[in-house]
Amino acid sequence: MTGWKLSEKVILITGGARGIGAATARELARRGARPVLADLDGAALELTAKVISPAPLTIELDVTDPAQCEAAVQRTVEAHGRLDMVWANAGIASFGPLQLTSASAWTRTVEVNLLGAYYTVRAALPAIIDQRGYVAVTCSLASFAHPPGMSAYAASKAGAEAMCNSLRAEVAHLGVEVASVHPTWIDTDMVREGDETQPAFRLLRQAMRPPFKRAYPLERAVGDIVVGFEQRRRRICTPRFVQLAHLLRPTLTSRAFERNLLAVAPEITSVFQKAVAERGVDSASASDRVAAQLGPERVR
Ligand code: NAD
Repeated sequence: MTGWKLSEKVILITGGARGIGAATARELARRGARPVLADLDGAALELTAKVISPAPLTIELDVTDPAQCEAAVQRTVEAHGRLDMVWANAGIASFGPLQLTSASAWTRTVEVNLLGAYYTVRAALPAIIDQRGYVAVTCSLASFAHPPGMSAYAASKAGAEAMCNSLRAEVAHLGVEVASVHPTWIDTDMVREGDETQPAFRLLRQAMRPPFKRAYPLERAVGDIVVGFEQRRRRICTPRFVQLAHLLRPTLTSRAFERNLLAVAPEITSVFQKAVAERGVDSASASDRVAAQLGPERVR
């Protein structure tokens, strides 16, 4: 689309308190946009807002609550008079073989990453249509590459990508564009906490082939995402090799590609079982930050 400049654009960003959302919000503000930061973590929100100028509106919300998503859009429109772009970026990760992992962590991962993105986008859509604006949803390389131990995360991100693809066709005639954003491992707390506290996750990452095993610097992801937003791209891959993985996606589920993952899967299971025995299933399946979001087990 021509004539779209980030300058002065009002952009509601969920998961804006830390990691990819926070760092990108800072760069968007530097380029003259007006990010609005929404997140579950009120303390982190305030810290991030302090390093953004001019001071952004911050909104504490849980994206799994549709009413809170609607209220966040309303507050944004009240404060800025409009909403040009929504970026459903809030996400969590959990880990563990499907049969053994915490059911609360599995279902919460889908609730935050897929249903949360749906609630966010649905709430924002009327205001975005008014502005012939732009919708982005943070998906992942895991939307099309599905390693063992990551069934919840991969399912949530594959679903998020599918949602974007359907929505894109629905709103194109209204002048609205829709992006799915696909990072590989990026060096944020999400990945660091997994490496540090979940030995089975660490084992998976070590077993992956290059370039899939590497965690890339946050600044690189921010650069790619901001350029993608500027160009209103329909798919933003970071770094560029993820674009190639997208094009070659059928090969990612071939036996040949999966060979090293098939070989390490039994060890992942036994390391995970040991962690469950030592720490309990919720703690083995998710970081402390995510475990704090888990309610009682609803699936037995
Ligand atoms: P992060 O943990 O640093 O940041 C995620 C943010 O989302 C946090 O501020 C957290 O409080 C917020 N959040 C979590 N649950 C929420 C909820 N229910 N309601 C509102 N906010 C909530 O992680 P990140 O690496 O910056 O991840 C950002 C997005 O990028 C996520 O969707 C993640 O799945 C995706 N992603 C990350 C990587 C990676 O390697 N870091 C790779 C691919 C995709």
